Amino acid sequence: MIKGDGYELRVCRSAACPMAAVEAESLVSRLKVLLDTASLGEFYRSLSLKDQKRYRFRVALSACPNACTQVQIADFGLIGQVVPQLAGECVACGVCEEVCEEGAVTLQDRWPLFDTERCLNCGLCIKACPKQVLAAEVKGYKVLVGGKLGRHPQLAKEVVALTSEEEVLHLLERTLSFYRKYCRRGERLGVIINRLGWENFLAFVRR
Ligand code: SF4
Ligand code: SF4
Ligand code: SF4
Repeated sequence: MIKGDGYELRVCRSAACPMAAVEAESLVSRLKVLLDTASLGEFYRSLSLKDQKRYRFRVALSACPNACTQVQIADFGLIGQVVPQLAGECVACGVCEEVCEEGAVTLQDRWPLFDTERCLNCGLCIKACPKQVLAAEVKGYKVLVGGKLGRHPQLAKEVVALTSEEEVLHLLERTLSFYRKYCRRGERLGVIINRLGWENFLAFVRR
């Protein structure tokens, strides 16, 4: 875990893990720069809170939908996504169908057919295809916000199902602006969103 002044950035094993759906290293560096620039420690100190050390903005990144860094309870959570597509000649071996834990790929007329409602964009089928004819149609991140534990736990809600690194950085920048503008006593982001309304939060960050 990276502990900065006023924030923590929890990142999974990503590059060292065979399950990773995305290469997260460059985004992690850019997230750290953005979080450092936001001066969150200074912000918390300006609120004159009693137990200063308790307060920090929590960001979590998992490089696949297994979500090992508990993105669902972070203020700002990211889940790596890879959308599979057929990009070569399928031999109808059925390996992709067997490996998919979601039942999201089935062989129909000797071609893999993907069920986008069920698919979690984990990329396991891409890795497992012995003919390497499955490829990434697009890679990116799911963005969640507002998760927390404590006295009134709540899971983070999805802002966008799949987006680019650039948009992730833009959303974090806007989320931090929202947080600094409306945080009264070091409240967690989820509490502020509950108070002001989900639609108002979305309107603010999508500007
Ligand atoms: S979230 Fe996925 S990529 Fe990251 S450590 Fe867990 S299983 Fe590996
Ligand atoms: S990406 Fe994952 S969930 Fe989607 S079809 Fe492939 S194995 Fe199944
Ligand atoms: S694993 Fe690859 S070759 Fe086998 S059925 Fe799936 S897409 Fe076709």
